[in-house]
Amino acid sequence: MHPLAKLDHRHLWHPFTQMRDWLKHEPIVIKSGQGAVLRDVKGREYLDANASIWTNLHGHNHPKINAAIRRQLTLIAHSSALGFANEPASLLAARLVKKASPPSRLQPKLNKVFFSDNGSTAMEVALKLAYEHAQRSGRSNRPRFLTIDGSYHGDTMGAASLGQIGLFQNSFAGLRFKTDKVMAPYCYRCPFNRAKPERADAREYRKCNWECTDKVEHAFAAQKNRGNPYAAMVVEPLIQGAAGMIPQPKGWLRRVSAIARNHGAQIIADEVMTGFGRTGTFFASHSEGVQPDFLCLAKGITGGYLPMAATLTTQAVFDSFLGEYAEFKTFFHGHSFTGNQLGAAAALASLDVLESSASIKARRSLEQSLRTELESLWPLQHVGDIRQVGLIAGIELVRNWRKREPFDLRERVGIRVCEAMARRGVLTRPIGNVVVLMPPYCASATQVRRMVSALREAVSEVLSNPAA
Ligand SMILES: *Cc1c(COP(=O)(O)O)cnc(C)c1O
Repeated sequence: MHPLAKLDHRHLWHPFTQMRDWLKHEPIVIKSGQGAVLRDVKGREYLDANASIWTNLHGHNHPKINAAIRRQLTLIAHSSALGFANEPASLLAARLVKKASPPSRLQPKLNKVFFSDNGSTAMEVALKLAYEHAQRSGRSNRPRFLTIDGSYHGDTMGAASLGQIGLFQNSFAGLRFKTDKVMAPYCYRCPFNRAKPERADAREYRKCNWECTDKVEHAFAAQKNRGNPYAAMVVEPLIQGAAGMIPQPKGWLRRVSAIARNHGAQIIADEVMTGFGRTGTFFASHSEGVQPDFLCLAKGITGGYLPMAATLTTQAVFDSFLGEYAEFKTFFHGHSFTGNQLGAAAALASLDVLESSASIKARRSLEQSLRTELESLWPLQHVGDIRQVGLIAGIELVRNWRKREPFDLRERVGIRVCEAMARRGVLTRPIGNVVVLMPPYCASATQVRRMVSALREAVSEVLSNPAA
């Protein structure tokens, strides 16, 4: 075993990983990356088919981002936002505000930015701000939040309380605060309007009567009747990530947002995965004409280079924290690396690349390549559903596509398929029985084809021999 792999085995504890399984195999030790390719210490090459867990935008070792970080490094790596302003953080806040409040007059304007380190903290910030704002604006003494079934907002306890994936939370149930949930628009498993079981039409649904958004209306009405209207609705716009890449049908986000607004609730948009062009528009919310009160960003914000996050909000929320010092209306929250210069410099460079016409064009064509390639998976017996939004794809593997019968999680089908893909030089991670493909924007059509072929071969290998 490689000495670095040995050290890993001896000392590291990996996230979301059954370490007993981890210790059975020599891990792939990544040494370098170039574009969509990762290279390990043994010189083997792999395609980064999930953009390093949904973070990387323009590829590894990008010359413009590298240069921006190097330039910043000649000045300073970090100084505290507690007490001081700094150049890249100021510039980045202005850029983000401009993108979040385009001239299309989407309301409300998001003009304040609170920086933190990761998606979970971006959500904690939104949660705490919304909580205090609801109290201070007289909406509720005991603010409550409405969330969507299957949602994932991070692993710190506040973010985890907003999340609704049982498997991740059961062990911490006693630590979570109570949130309510409504059904997700999981069309493939919709209890009201089942998709037709025929392969080619699997993505066409029988007449949809929007029972799922009715449930949202009912939830808001019921909570109002209890005398404590919801402070905010929390949503992953257009597609739920960790739930298993579950896209929302067109119009869902617009509808539920209108319901929340009609009930006077705020909207917290978790765009940690969907932001920065992943779904086709710059921010996913805007594609449905929805402007949240809180926009939470992380993962791709630095192009996937450094841990950084931002929570954008409105003047109204900001104002509810203003007062005389002695009133202690201050937002008592912060992190050591808030507004970090290296991260902000990387983010500014990433925005430059993202806004270039070359990148916009490449994304559009890559999205089409991915769509075309994914078509080739429909004939596979164990492919139940193929879901794509922009450059995010989830392929749901099932025991029986006619009945949509899921595999038992204990069979580790997703994990085994991804291991078989890794043997073919393609790296990704499953969510249960859903295999995720999320190429960096720099991936070529050929690389996308290789990702999908590896998946096709891996499914055949693993599932034609289910006892393996
Ligand atoms: C990844 C993710 C988070 C959590 O972000 P971390 O940086 O891992 O803390 C929150 N929300 C969504 C939608 C995510 O995909």
